[in-house]
Amino acid sequence: MFLRLEHSKRGVRTGLGILIASGFALVLPLTGAHAQSDTPYTTVVQVQKAAPPSNAQLADPTIERRVDALLKQMTLADKLGQLVQYSGDGVKGADVAASKDVPPAPGKNPVSPDCPDAMQLISQGRLGSMLNVVGAETTNAYQHAAVDRSRLHIPLLFGADVIHGYRTVYPVPLGLAATWDPALVTSVAHVAAEEATTAGVRWFYSPMVDISRDPRWGRTIEGAGEDAYLGAAMARAYIRGYQGDDLSKPDAVAASVKHFAAYGAVEAGREYNTTDMSESRLMQDYLPPYKAAVQAGAATIMSAFNALNGVPASANRFLLTDVLRDEWGFNGFVVSDYTAIRELINHGIALDGATAARKALTAGVDVDMMSHLYDSEFPAMVKSGQISMTSIDEAVRRVLRVKFALGLFEHPYAQGTEVTRAVPEHRAIVHQAAEESLVLLGNKPFNGTPVLPLADRPAKVALIGPLADNADEMIDQWGDPRRNPDVITVKDALEDRAKQIGGSVTYAKGTEISGTSESGFAEALEAANRSDVVVMALGESSEMSGEAGSRSHLDLPGNQEKLLKQIAATGKPIVLLVFSGRPLVLNWAAEHVPAIIEAWFPGTEAGSAIANLLYGDVSPSGKLPMSFPRSVGQEPLYYNQFPTGRPTYDADLSKPPDGDTRFISRYIDVPNDALFPFGYGLSYTTFDYSGVTASRASVPLSEAKDNGGRMLITATATVKNTGDRAASEVVQCYVRNLGASLEQPVRSLQGFKRVTLKPGESQQVTFDLGFNELSFYTNAGKAIIEPTHYTVWVGGSSLATEHADFVIAP
Ligand code: BGC
Repeated sequence: MFLRLEHSKRGVRTGLGILIASGFALVLPLTGAHAQSDTPYTTVVQVQKAAPPSNAQLADPTIERRVDALLKQMTLADKLGQLVQYSGDGVKGADVAASKDVPPAPGKNPVSPDCPDAMQLISQGRLGSMLNVVGAETTNAYQHAAVDRSRLHIPLLFGADVIHGYRTVYPVPLGLAATWDPALVTSVAHVAAEEATTAGVRWFYSPMVDISRDPRWGRTIEGAGEDAYLGAAMARAYIRGYQGDDLSKPDAVAASVKHFAAYGAVEAGREYNTTDMSESRLMQDYLPPYKAAVQAGAATIMSAFNALNGVPASANRFLLTDVLRDEWGFNGFVVSDYTAIRELINHGIALDGATAARKALTAGVDVDMMSHLYDSEFPAMVKSGQISMTSIDEAVRRVLRVKFALGLFEHPYAQGTEVTRAVPEHRAIVHQAAEESLVLLGNKPFNGTPVLPLADRPAKVALIGPLADNADEMIDQWGDPRRNPDVITVKDALEDRAKQIGGSVTYAKGTEISGTSESGFAEALEAANRSDVVVMALGESSEMSGEAGSRSHLDLPGNQEKLLKQIAATGKPIVLLVFSGRPLVLNWAAEHVPAIIEAWFPGTEAGSAIANLLYGDVSPSGKLPMSFPRSVGQEPLYYNQFPTGRPTYDADLSKPPDGDTRFISRYIDVPNDALFPFGYGLSYTTFDYSGVTASRASVPLSEAKDNGGRMLITATATVKNTGDRAASEVVQCYVRNLGASLEQPVRSLQGFKRVTLKPGESQQVTFDLGFNELSFYTNAGKAIIEPTHYTVWVGGSSLATEHADFVIAP
């Protein structure tokens, strides 16, 4: 368990000799135990005020009065109804064809025993929300039962896994993170909300903001990668896009931030496994995106499947109450993940359903998704006094506030014309997202010139691979097969291009995504031999990632690499497109294939975005949100690792150790670093970084306190486009803190900006660094700044070399 020396109801905590008082920052002398030197020094700690409500709309007194009035009329059964949620799957007696509009489940999830009759429950006012029931006809039918037939006419809330678009599909979240473009993320997220609300969905189980540093974990695809700063920026962007500034607008949806918390750190990357970590790491590296989403006003949050330090997240009071409510001021509601409350029995912390339900509710889970325990266990437990009516009322209030804020009582039904196909007007922004998500990993010369961009003149193109003409895979497993006619595949787009500029495209599948048959190799080789250039579309199927998609191997599946090797042996220039839901191990390709693009799963506009990039209509600007390993054995591999007592200095780690290079922190069979590092991505032009400066050499510690986000120091750099094409670059700012009482990462991202520069143009880019960027977390969960040395780097990846130094002076 975490060290908690004291905890008050207002979330004011003390620990490790740090005293925090509401409204004040106290500067206290500390003794040498925590100091770099033996001399006592002072530490500035973040001011802890009673957290204001995270969502002002939910705190509106008008809403509160309506909640009070309604609550007074509710029986215990009515109240419990608002706290349970069922899907449309397996619903008995529904008078609508519920299943026809249910998107394919992400694998077979366990269905709660005694699956209740949803339609009957709704008519009796005993069901408050439904999951993954979409489509205007279906949602309206259920909604009519709630509004017309139930005694109190409380509308249902329909939630769905709209993860990266509804009908016009944008890149998977990991790909979207590779854009490093939060404004764009907000725009596409809003498009998803606009579309899904026409089908009655007013609640998204998104964004998933779990930091993942281990690509074995399949759900890596659903998040923003390995870094807390980038993850927090993306989290805020989604919330703005989904919720806008007013939840009651017809095209706004409530977000459900998931999965709280630290699900992305499950041991060995194995799905549903356990998580164990220090509190400083939790606060510094894993919680920031959830916190950013809450502070951006997220209306709901989903408790995770995993245990955190021995306490399952869905019964974890520390997470769900101490941190979420007391410290962050979260005033939305918490929904459990799918059957997560019943799973507390499997976790071994409850011997029966009643205990599981009690533990979940008292920890802070308001809504029971699919466990069928709150409604079956609480009536007797309230009667016997094991559960207080006050705690039930509090959970119900939280749910009703969200329903009132969404305007469901006024507009319960799907609104507008239902969107059932990709929307032409939405294609442009979704296309931009796909273009920006593509990361150019390699572009070596072939016969003296880089392979990309391809010349805009007639050429014979061989298009090879199982993902070249595969609409299903472009939209990933959260997609809906009915959207496939809308998807532009790589084949579609390259054939179109050939019509415009002349030349030809010969397509050969070559092989399947997985499998061993080589029956398609000969046709692929023949196409390659006859071509001027080969485009290969290889990678994973979408079901190899996502929920229940953990892998222990990270290579190209099946015999795809074998095919790649044989095609490469033809001596033709190859452009390799990698489609994957995670970083893969691409060593052979990196060495032998001149041009490589990481394409993730780009969505509806996959082919057209890729073709534009291949032909140089646009220069690549995507940057990796996760490190690409050289070997699975390096995982978890992340750029912001901690230093060790045995640094590698300048040892050549590509060679096996000898006497001088053995007893250092290394592997004997693979270098330590990533094949492609975090933040990396090439362009068709080149950028030069110079003149990195810090605005001050020294900042007095007394100034370095939480000051409402004001900056303490500004880092400036000049970035110049030194090539001959206009292009966008993601300028990244990294910071290292040396000499602190806890060791700090070798560097960590603390800012980024996209700039667009013409050939020869340069621009000064500045990064404001304040308490949030310079502080670190103690193991008592406090953000602090100490008098230490800082280095700031500015550059185009986590390998940036241009830097400046400054200190926080005692
Ligand atoms: C997943 C969630 C999802 C929920 C509802 C669970 O299995 O973990 O991410 O939102 O199902 O479909």
